[in-house]
Amino acid sequence: MINAKLAAKSHLHHQTIVKLSEQVSFGGIQLVIIGGPCAVESKEQMETVAQKLSTAPVQALRGGVYKPRTSPYAFQGMGEEGLKILAGVRSRYNMPVVTEVMSISQIEAIAAHADMLQVGSRNMQNFDLLKALGQAGKPILLKRGLAATIEEFIMAAEYILSNGNPDVVLCERGIRSFDNYTRNVLDLGAVAALKQITHLPVIVDPSHAVGKRELVAPVAKAAIACGADGLIIECHPEPEQSVSDARQALSLEDMVSLVNSLKPVAAAVERNISEELGVGLEPAPLCLSAA
Ligand code: PEP
Ligand code: MN
Repeated sequence: MINAKLAAKSHLHHQTIVKLSEQVSFGGIQLVIIGGPCAVESKEQMETVAQKLSTAPVQALRGGVYKPRTSPYAFQGMGEEGLKILAGVRSRYNMPVVTEVMSISQIEAIAAHADMLQVGSRNMQNFDLLKALGQAGKPILLKRGLAATIEEFIMAAEYILSNGNPDVVLCERGIRSFDNYTRNVLDLGAVAALKQITHLPVIVDPSHAVGKRELVAPVAKAAIACGADGLIIECHPEPEQSVSDARQALSLEDMVSLVNSLKPVAAAVERNISEELGVGLEPAPLCLSAA
């Protein structure tokens, strides 16, 4: 029995809807597909990504500017400069953006520029950060820890909820196991369980789960089939050149065809992916750019 006073369902059909923007919400009939690179690398890169994905059924953009890297010598992200790039494409393409927050000191700046703050796997049990995000005033995308149990994951969400923020979306991104052929092991059983235990929307990150671009599409389909409310997928204009997670990055073309191929799977489980071409077909004039 998991003692999640706020995260647990109170009745069978209890479902929280988390609003990302006027047009995009998690937890309803419509699935939310988030696409973009592992890391924001340049204005040109994000412009190309937003331009392509805004003409596809992709509802939101991702891109890390504060990157939790295994090695301290690896690229750590563009920081504030990257945030301005995100803010620029957000307004020009009218697409919400999601980016990772690693520390309490970054919350204010990220909340000023992004629509959703992502807590990465490595920070799932950073309790002080979770408590502070209770007051962030923006929805939180909480990723499952590398080796967190389902109970620990739900209790991490409970920290954010109990500190005042009701807008939490859970993200299954694979857990560590003995086999390293795939980067992690995608726990679809956890997705089904989370959907039964909690009223929070649950999405899946197939990219970090499998770590290999050729495995992303089949796993993404399975995630939708088993009830996920959306997906977050890494893609890049030049996947091989990605500064981080190059091996799992899809090309923008493959991203668009993957999303289109999800439509019949979504229909089979009575969900859908918006047929409207993106949310910002016509980019707003460049002068609106904050970057
Ligand atoms: C990411 O989404 O870029 C990321 C670092 O993911 P995770 O925290 O799941 O490893
Ligand atoms: Mn990544």
